[in-house]
Amino acid sequence: MAGVVMDGRVISKEIKEKIRKEAEALRGQGVVPGLAAVLVGENPASVIYVRNKRKACEESGIYSEGHYLSQSVSQGKLLDLIERLNKDPKIHGILVQLPLPKHLSADLILNSLAPFKDVDGLHPYNIGKLMMGDPVFVPCTPAGVMTMLDYHSIVVEGKTAVVVGRSNLVGKPVALLLMHRNATVTVCHSRTQNLPEVCRRADILVAAMGKARFVTGEMVKEGAVVIDVGINRLADGSLVGDVDYEAVAKRAGWITPVPGGVGPMTIAMLLQNTLLSAKRAMGETVHR
Ligand code: NAP
Repeated sequence: MAGVVMDGRVISKEIKEKIRKEAEALRGQGVVPGLAAVLVGENPASVIYVRNKRKACEESGIYSEGHYLSQSVSQGKLLDLIERLNKDPKIHGILVQLPLPKHLSADLILNSLAPFKDVDGLHPYNIGKLMMGDPVFVPCTPAGVMTMLDYHSIVVEGKTAVVVGRSNLVGKPVALLLMHRNATVTVCHSRTQNLPEVCRRADILVAAMGKARFVTGEMVKEGAVVIDVGINRLADGSLVGDVDYEAVAKRAGWITPVPGGVGPMTIAMLLQNTLLSAKRAMGETVHR
């Protein structure tokens, strides 16, 4: 069978258009949603991510400001900047692009964000709220995964879901969201035994391990939904996911491509969270 391609570019474009209209309406009420992006150093992938996020803000009528700090910036200086942004009424969302250089404590920096401006959903308070099923902000990539499932009206309840990867950024929150939607979830990692066998049980398989084309056709059940979160750059410069797309697409019922799958969704969710934060700042009661 040839699976349905879940095109993140198409879905994110629709979402961004909706955000643009809502941002315009907010502007009419005197509020411009604002995002501050903080980038430390010049990691080439991070530079591209921040550029794309800011460009998407611009296209959607969200004010964005970039804070580009040198690789050697001190922890104190970075904390001072975050404190300023936490208090700045123009800013509704703060994004600290990860990874941070080794001399900085990512934990400490994420802890210093005002939880109600933490649009990436990485502050411990927000992770706790997510775990309890009452999220303040759903982390962007996991939110993008769930939005893609919903866009394609894929029923999650009662399904067997397998998430490969258990990072705080992707694997764990995706697993929680699927569980909250009543899937039966298995989380796999580098010590999982018989991984192919576990993956083959999945009605919904989420690959988030950062290993190029790791998930092969034989690891996927016929008709399964396969969401590929991975972004891996090969020696020839091309980008591939964690799924062997050609082989898996022949078996899957639904599949996300890389590039053009979860990546654009992540950016759309960041804009959505920033808009949500701006609405909350206006005193609207808004739930996710
Ligand atoms: P990470 O922090 O490196 O975590 C990788 C996870 O995969 C770990 O839990 C690791 O297990 C597990 N793993 C590694 N090798 C494995 C193997 N051979 N078998 C089973 N599990 C294995 O990565 P991440 O930040 O979650 O990101 C994962 C991928 O998603 C990366 O390619 C990243 O670039 C991509 N990503 C994409 C987006 C997007 O917008 N599309 C956003 C974020 C990340 P252990 O815990 O045992 O080490």
